[in-house]
Amino acid sequence: MSIQQNIQDLKLKLGSAVTLVAVSKTKPVEALREAYAAGQRDFGENYVQELVDKHEQLPKDIQWHFIGHLQSNKVKYMAPFVHLIHGVDSVKLLQEINKQGAKLRRVIPCLLQVYIAKEETKFGFDKQELLAFAQSDLLKTLNHVQVLGLMGMASNTDDESQIAAEFHELASMFATLKSNTAPNFDMRYLSGGMSGDYPIALKAGCNMVRIGSTIFGSRNYEP
Ligand SMILES: *Cc1c(COP(=O)(O)O)cnc(C)c1O
Repeated sequence: MSIQQNIQDLKLKLGSAVTLVAVSKTKPVEALREAYAAGQRDFGENYVQELVDKHEQLPKDIQWHFIGHLQSNKVKYMAPFVHLIHGVDSVKLLQEINKQGAKLRRVIPCLLQVYIAKEETKFGFDKQELLAFAQSDLLKTLNHVQVLGLMGMASNTDDESQIAAEFHELASMFATLKSNTAPNFDMRYLSGGMSGDYPIALKAGCNMVRIGSTIFGSRNYEP
């Protein structure tokens, strides 16, 4: 199956209310051009240098999502053009994004990553931290970021009931935070689901999925 066909099939399955982020990490720009030709405009990358290189080479109407683990000292390279940063896993990182946004006079859209998996290797806010930060005065001072939702990664397991429980937990935090009225806080996007678990994420209420291998084929190396 071609990349073009894969995208068309996915779009049919997802429907128009769900945003498909095509995860193109490790894939050559030719593969992204094929997806672009199929109408795909949202692409997700995990490595800052790769994101910057691809942004330079590809059409400027692409919306670039950063979905990897982000180090504070690398924010500046993508700050001018990134469309949405999914993996904001600490207040310190959000403060750095705010600082870079201020320098550019740009408000940078972000999602807060929530720790929902039962795996030590995953990053993110835990529930208490997240609820406390959403109420804090500090959040209100960060006027060069806009928190547009939450992102989560479920455990890498065959146990579908566990995956469902984790995505439901994420969705319940999202629902709770919808009533938060801070001006730079607006729960619009719930980013959950990858090739292996997106149907479960959708059932739990996610409206943004990050899909790589189902579109581009398996990767030669993993991050
Ligand atoms: C690589 C990656 C994806 C896509 O994974 P696939 O299994 O190839 O769909 C989604 N989200 C994150 C955070 C990733 O690192």
